[in-house]
Amino acid sequence: MFKLESLVRPNIRAMKPYSSARDEFQGEARVMLDANENSLGSAGPSQFNRYPDPLQREVKQALAPLKGVAAEQIFLGNGSDEAIDLLVRLTCVPGHDHILILPPTYGMYEVAANLNDVGIERIALTADFQISQDSVNQILASEAKLVFLCSPNNPTGNLLHADAVEQILRGFRGLVIVDEAYADFADAPSWTTRLAEFPNLVVLQTFSKAWGLAGLRLGMAFASPEIIGYLNKIKPPYNVSEVTQRHALQALQAAAHFEELRHTLLRGRAWLAERLPAVPIVEHVFPSDANFLLTRFKPDATAVYNYLLGKGIVVRNRTTQPGCAGTLRLTVGTPEENEQLLEALQEYRPS
Ligand SMILES: *Cc1c(COP(=O)(O)O)cnc(C)c1O
Repeated sequence: MFKLESLVRPNIRAMKPYSSARDEFQGEARVMLDANENSLGSAGPSQFNRYPDPLQREVKQALAPLKGVAAEQIFLGNGSDEAIDLLVRLTCVPGHDHILILPPTYGMYEVAANLNDVGIERIALTADFQISQDSVNQILASEAKLVFLCSPNNPTGNLLHADAVEQILRGFRGLVIVDEAYADFADAPSWTTRLAEFPNLVVLQTFSKAWGLAGLRLGMAFASPEIIGYLNKIKPPYNVSEVTQRHALQALQAAAHFEELRHTLLRGRAWLAERLPAVPIVEHVFPSDANFLLTRFKPDATAVYNYLLGKGIVVRNRTTQPGCAGTLRLTVGTPEENEQLLEALQEYRPS
């Protein structure tokens, strides 16, 4: 029933991708004079005079067993934000097609649509930030080319119920993008484990959160080899730098350090989640499967936000997001930072 070809923009189906020097010759030759590189070397302390592998083969080889997928099921990009943009561009004809989002959710889906002159259909999450059965039915009836399901959701922190996601995967006509930027903090299996069942599924993950590599800019998309093939066809040829590829390989070999970071953040989340509800100005702490806690303050969240800022503590003000009135999004920090945040909130006196 699902036909990828019918979702891909006709011009992208027809176009011939750019063929880079490193696409046409891989490996190392004695004399490399094919790419207009500088054979003499690099300015600066390190050698980066050669173009990087356009398909990041070594990184994918290291990542595939860790994620339980084949290397052909992996796309790597300049952050997962690049994958978001490419997925919109792959499927949506500007000025004609539209995407589906479930507010409150991550802001980049909307930005990618706006940038590409692509329409946005919005179906709100429920008060507890889930997808109602009515909404599932609306999604199944939608003509959108793709739907973004953020799970755990940003800025709310919760996983979306698997049965709703599964109904959407079974019945939605377009691509189903499950954004799992926070999957490493979640108490649930990744949707990558279901890729074989759903040819319309794309799972996004990132090195920016649990891996602690936001500055590196490396994001992942997992999907069928056919979908990954299309993303590779339309990406900028050298979208992941040599520095990023080398560094990612080293990070992937530091699995123990990753686990330690992850567990410290999980402990920090539990520590804050236990203590925040007892703070007088805290009205509600939403349950979180991510590295942040959406917290509702009374009587005035923005006043609390400004107060924290005055103390040198910056959090995210989410009061204007749909369904998020009165909330601030508190990222879990170091144990010391968590203590400082809690202490500041305990000392707050409404003026
Ligand atoms: C942080 C985040 C990302 C990660 O974006 P990168 O470009 O990989 O840094 C993606 N999706 C969501 C929902 C996020 O919160």
